[in-house]
Formats: sequence, structure tokens, C-alpha cells
Amino acid sequence: EAKQRGSNSYVIYNEELGKRKTRKLKLEHDLHQALVKNQLFITYQPQWNVVDNQLSGFESLLRWKHPTKGLVSPAEFIPIAEETGLIIPITKWVIEKACHQARLWYDQGWSQSIAVNLSIRIFQNGQLFSWVEEALGKSGLPPHMLELEITESMVMRNMDDIIRQLEDVRQLGVRISLDDFGTGYSSIAVLDRIPIDCLKLDRLFTNDLETPNKHAIVKGIIRMAKSLKLDIVAEGVEHQEPIDILTTLGCDVMQGYFYGKPMTPPEVSEWLADLKNKSFAFAH
Ligand code: C2E
Ligand code: MG
Ligand code: MG
Ligand code: MG
Repeated sequence: EAKQRGSNSYVIYNEELGKRKTRKLKLEHDLHQALVKNQLFITYQPQWNVVDNQLSGFESLLRWKHPTKGLVSPAEFIPIAEETGLIIPITKWVIEKACHQARLWYDQGWSQSIAVNLSIRIFQNGQLFSWVEEALGKSGLPPHMLELEITESMVMRNMDDIIRQLEDVRQLGVRISLDDFGTGYSSIAVLDRIPIDCLKLDRLFTNDLETPNKHAIVKGIIRMAKSLKLDIVAEGVEHQEPIDILTTLGCDVMQGYFYGKPMTPPEVSEWLADLKNKSFAFAH
């Protein structure tokens, strides 16, 4: 009987694997057309400064509306975009589009920053500087309002080359954030070498702060970031209690569903118009 079950689960496992592979191949094929067919769009998630009690920025988060499979998560299609190299034209497009959008909001009187996620492939391409320069020029967005997010795992290889490219864009006035901080294995060493302006504390550390260990770790990270004169953004905050703790520990900027989900520009406009009715907006 055990043998029977064993072979059955082997079949099920194989089928599952096959289905996943078929889906991946299909997505890989279709992603080539996604950009020209206007299936990609950017959502923007607000970042809230709890000290000034005001909007501090937005992070651009890419979405793919597949014609038959519906909304595909970036966790699924970004790795495919990286493998195929499509991440290169896609990122160029995201930088341009996000700068343009941020400039529109800026003209409406909102002076928040706009963040764009980068991938390792962008540094291999070597065009980051010219893309950013062009996007800033075309949109007229003040450079200090653009933020580029990198992760620690990205800078592990070819560190010197990446540092040089980051320093180049930083010369333009653009800010650099270290995303998902605390999830890699080199966090502290990287901080000493990479030119960054802001540290984004991963969601892993911004919930369940009641446990003494997590509390101590987060307290230490925030202290260290402050000594290094870095800004800190807490990612993925969903509840009031961790926000209160993070605020007490000295983290000034929060990003998470508690404040707002990633939204399309029309949804952002509604969110902005409705700010006066949001409880967090008049906390003090
Ligand atoms: P990330 O840059 O760390 O972005 C934060 C992710 O956490 C986003 O997932 C966001 O929707 C989610 N999130 C925000 N607040 C909360 C919360 O309160 N609770 C929970 N559970 N989740 C929250 P998303 O949009 O699915 O993106 C996933 C990842 O895909 C991003 O992680 C980023 O690494 C990557 N990504 C997204 N857009 C781009 C892009 O344009 N280029 C590149 N290279 N990567 C991108
Ligand atoms: Mg990010
Ligand atoms: Mg992140
Ligand atoms: Mg994260």
C-alpha cells in the first residue's frame, strides 16, 4: 500500500512540476509582447512620514495584466524578465514612466519622492546613468525626488563596478535605497561599502515586534542606520502596534497596507483626495 501511495504521489508531483513548467514557458513567451501590448502597468504604494505626519514618497511596483491568466505577480514574472533579459527594456520604461508620473503629482503640489526597483541585470547593461539622466531630463523631475532601490544580494558580485555606477547616478542627485534589509547574509559588510541614502527594513522585522529578540534586532538596526546618517523606511507595516514601536525606536517613515496598498494613478488621486478622512493623517 505504501508503495502504491508512493508511486501515486510521484505521478502527482510530476504532473504539478509539468504544469508549472508549461506555465513558465507560456509566461516567458508572452512577456516578450507585454510591453508593446500595454499589458504592463505601474502601481504606486505610499510611504508615510510619521514624524512630519505627511506623505513622504511612493514606491513603483510593476504589474502585468496577462490577457488570459489575469494579474501575474511580480514575484513570478520579474525572475522571468531577468532570465530573458527583458528586465532591461522594462526597467528603462519603469524609470521613465515613474519619473513622468511623479512630475505630474509634483505639479499638483505633492513633493513626494518616487522609488524604482532595480535588478542586477541593469548594472551588467551599464546604461543606468544615461537612462536616469534622460528620464529626469524628459520629465523635469528634480533629481533628489528619484530613488533607486537595490538589494544587498545584487551588490555581492562585481561590487566595484556597481559602486561606481551607483556613485555616478548619485552625482546627479538621485538617492539610493537598500531594499529588503536584513534578509541577505552580508547586510552589515555591505553598509560599509555601498553608497546609500536610505535603508528599507524588511517586512520580516516590522511585524510581531512583541517578541524580545525581534525587538532587540530592530532596535539595533535602527540605531546603526541613524549613526550612519541613513534614512529608514519600515516595509510592510499592517498594524498600529508595530508602527508605534517602530516610531519609538526612531523609524520615521512607514510603508505598508496600513497606509495604502500599491495603487494605479487614478486610485492614488482618490487616496490623496481622501487623506483628510484617514485616521493616520491626523494622529497627533
Ligand atoms: P519589494 O521591492 O520589497 O516591494 C515590497 C513588496 O511588499 C510589494 O510586493 C508590496 O506590494 C508588498 N507589500 C507592501 N506592503 C505590504 C504589507 O503591508 N503587507 C504585505 N504582506 N505585503 C506588502 P509586490 O508588489 O508583489 O512586489 C514584489 C517584489 O517584486 C518587490 O519587492 C520587488 O522586489 C519586485 N518588483 C516589483 N516591481 C519591480 C520592478 O519594477 N523592477 C524590479 N526589478 N523588481 C520589481
Ligand atoms: Mg522595493
Ligand atoms: Mg522591499
Ligand atoms: Mg521586502
